[in-house]
Amino acid sequence: MKKFRFVGVNSIKFNQQFKEDVDCYNYLASIKWAGESYKCNRCSHSKYYKGKKPFSRRCLKCKHDESPTAGTMFDKCKFSLLVAFHIVFKIATKKKGMSSLELSHEFELRQPTCWGFKWKIQQAMQSSLQHPLSGEIHVDEFFMGGPEEQKRGRSKGNKRLVVVALEKVQEGVGRAYAQVIEHASSEEFEPFFKAYINKEANVITDQWPGYSPLKKEYKNLKQIPSDEGKNFPDLHIHIMNLKGWIRGIHHHCSKERLQGYLDEYHYRYNRRNNMDTIFHKLIEKMVNNKPIRIDKPV
Ligand SMILES: [Zn+2]
Repeated sequence: MKKFRFVGVNSIKFNQQFKEDVDCYNYLASIKWAGESYKCNRCSHSKYYKGKKPFSRRCLKCKHDESPTAGTMFDKCKFSLLVAFHIVFKIATKKKGMSSLELSHEFELRQPTCWGFKWKIQQAMQSSLQHPLSGEIHVDEFFMGGPEEQKRGRSKGNKRLVVVALEKVQEGVGRAYAQVIEHASSEEFEPFFKAYINKEANVITDQWPGYSPLKKEYKNLKQIPSDEGKNFPDLHIHIMNLKGWIRGIHHHCSKERLQGYLDEYHYRYNRRNNMDTIFHKLIEKMVNNKPIRIDKPV
């Protein structure tokens, strides 16, 4: 698999490795049944022979034929697997990703079809929550879709509140995560902290009282005056970039949809120094994630 695994962001190499659908089926099969881990998903038998479709496997015992896409996010895809790979490649490797409108032009597909597939990709881009932020972490919230100055205002109308955490490292900034929340309250902050921030971390927030109750669990949490963001310069640059990117794609969106964009943004952001594996990891996540049902765009 090592040699076979796609490395980097070079589209010429990508086109050389993935020429037609079978190349993609082969790739998925090698991830799905890595290290000869085949197990019939109907009877758990471990012996198989070649199935009907490319790289599918047929159980020797119950004859169940399973394709490499079955049970993955590529299941029941509305276009060819090669196109699906191209879309994943673009979204993983282009600095700003691609909107469903851009995808629909480039691949001659309907926009809702592109949106639906991109939504799946965004689900796969969610953090595995295996590596919480540690060290020095700066946390703040911001509004999306409203006047800047109305931070923490009571009535938020169409605006969405987002909490964001950024890891400070010696060379500057490390990883970051963000989550849509309803209120700037400790009840809303807590699940975000628990999911993304190590309890031992040196968390720094501004003096908003909503953060104070978290000191019970986060012993090293410190609150300092924000001085209109001047004390959190890196975090503010991060928020500006994030907002700029989201504004460039769309204006108003639901909570779920905004969360999808936040996950997409941070998937790329957190891997900006690991571009060699950015495509492969995403395919791997899409193989190992359960297929999701797409309802109407939220
Ligand atoms: Zn079987």
